[in-house]
Amino acid sequence: MLDRNNELDAFDRDHFFHPSTHMGAHARGETPNRIIAGGEGVYITDTNGRVSLDAFAGLYCVNVGYGRRKIADAIAAQARELAYYHAYVGHGTEASIRLARMIVERAPKGMSRVYFGLSGSDANETNIKLIWYANNVLGRPEKKKIISRWRGYHGSGVMTGSLTGLDLFHKAFDLPRAPILHTEAPYYFRRADRSMSEEQFSQHCADQLDALIVAEGPETVAAFIGEPILGTGGIVPPPAGYWQKIQAVLKKHDVMLVADEVVTGFGRLGSMFGSDHYGIEPDLITIAKGLTSAYAPLSGVIVSEKLWEVLVMGSDRLGPIGHGWTYSAHPICAAAGIANLELIDERDLVRNAGVTGAFLRAELDRAVGGHVHVGEVRGDGLMAAIEFVRDRDDRVFFDPSEKIGPRIAAALADRGVIGRAMPQGDILGFAPPLCLTREEAVRIVEATAGAIGDVF
Ligand code: PLP
Repeated sequence: MLDRNNELDAFDRDHFFHPSTHMGAHARGETPNRIIAGGEGVYITDTNGRVSLDAFAGLYCVNVGYGRRKIADAIAAQARELAYYHAYVGHGTEASIRLARMIVERAPKGMSRVYFGLSGSDANETNIKLIWYANNVLGRPEKKKIISRWRGYHGSGVMTGSLTGLDLFHKAFDLPRAPILHTEAPYYFRRADRSMSEEQFSQHCADQLDALIVAEGPETVAAFIGEPILGTGGIVPPPAGYWQKIQAVLKKHDVMLVADEVVTGFGRLGSMFGSDHYGIEPDLITIAKGLTSAYAPLSGVIVSEKLWEVLVMGSDRLGPIGHGWTYSAHPICAAAGIANLELIDERDLVRNAGVTGAFLRAELDRAVGGHVHVGEVRGDGLMAAIEFVRDRDDRVFFDPSEKIGPRIAAALADRGVIGRAMPQGDILGFAPPLCLTREEAVRIVEATAGAIGDVF
């Protein structure tokens, strides 16, 4: 085992360019290397045989848990029968067609078609292209700007990295600013005046959006994109009334709405979609992670019937749409998606996410909510976060150089539980597989209380 680990470690440092990693430090061997070898349920095992409870489900994606035979068997059967055929010019496979149907059956009212991709990033690129195409078809070619929120996360591509409202993903890349605009983050804890109620802060966010659209000219603003609950930006649920007020502004200015449900789609909030959970009525929905529980890469854009009619008008006038990926609707990934959605139903995981999620958050709050350096315990469904502050009462934050979030995440990992230090701010995030049990939730809570005690 030691020889194998040493060999893998050396190959890794010399050849593997990791995403979102300090390149030099990793290549020089200054940061730890953890090679994951197996997984079962909510647990993963590394090549040293160390078992950890993965309370972030990989990157909030392994929703049904690790090691599910049903999905592995479906992938193997599809690979044996037909590993690939493309989806261009009306081609399909039984798996991709059946999966499209299953997605629409589960999607919020009014959604009718699915365009498949491979990652959340490429699905959001598709969204932007469809929105621009639709506005050209509708004879309003100047209506092209897309508004995103500070702290939103929508991917790492050229356009989607631009949509992402987190400094880390912009720094030194010179991503295009136009035609992307950013507006206020719905982050009550950090952004609201202390005198404001949640409703008042939601109104403030809606007013900011309205002012931005008016300043830019509503005839130039095409769409607004948002995650139902901010994910990578800190796991921040929307303040009361937020989505209702935002949607009123969008309707007033005839601006489309994209709900980025890459994290929330297929049950994470205790509802099949975050849009249903918060009363959002989108024109487009982005899906990825939970669609296959990451057993195979697959994403999609769910298009509303209303927008679909515009797209059809476009092809009647212009011919086939010039947008496609080689691996769009890949049958192996689609087979994984079908088995995954069946498993979610069979194991009643959407309901479990709601019930066990509420338990986890209540227990975290009970165990650490009163700690002198805990500013807030928040979340919804099986998404939870603890935000650390230097001073609770005066809401003084730690200096980023103190790396409080990463230190607590590291202490937690030493105790056998994986949480995530969210990329901006001292926030420890949790998004475990939706199959989490109460006993496993208690383990997360006990380890978290211990880790906080280790650091402070
Ligand atoms: N949108 C949201 C809300 C996400 O959380 C993510 C990834 O975490 C993405 C889009 C991008 O997905 P991917 O990493 O598959 O490109």
